[in-house]
Amino acid sequence: MKCYKCYGETKKEKLKGIEIDRCTSCQSIWLDYNELDQLEDTIWPHDELKGSLFFGTKVSSISCPKCGTQMKKINYRFFDLELEMCPNSCGFYLDKGEEKRILELIKKDKKAYKRKIKAEDEWAKVLGKIKKSLKLLKEKDLSSDKKES
Ligand SMILES: [Zn+2]
Ligand SMILES: [Zn+2]
Repeated sequence: MKCYKCYGETKKEKLKGIEIDRCTSCQSIWLDYNELDQLEDTIWPHDELKGSLFFGTKVSSISCPKCGTQMKKINYRFFDLELEMCPNSCGFYLDKGEEKRILELIKKDKKAYKRKIKAEDEWAKVLGKIKKSLKLLKEKDLSSDKKES
């Protein structure tokens, strides 16, 4: 496979156990559609919790190495990272170093999610305490009412 960005030679290489094609001159990599998913799953295997993947419809100047369709520029999961994707879901082009950014972003997302869950947990505890004290207040009111009457 030739690099469709600079027409350089590509070489097979392993990235987190996934076989990818990296260009020996511009260092961009091609990921098959499911390989991006596999790459993310090495960090965080909960697809349903990750943001939407497809955002943006800017047309890219390169065409898909698999089907020849003009690729689209997409924003990766609403992060400030632009990837090239084949509109026929063949796969993605990642520029030099972008695979590292993806891994970092997924790590961050995972941390943020865990923080959110923790915050929700804490909030539930607080709510529980409020409910409990309200109940106590009510019971107190009832008993004082009884005394007065
Ligand atoms: Zn290249
Ligand atoms: Zn394609």
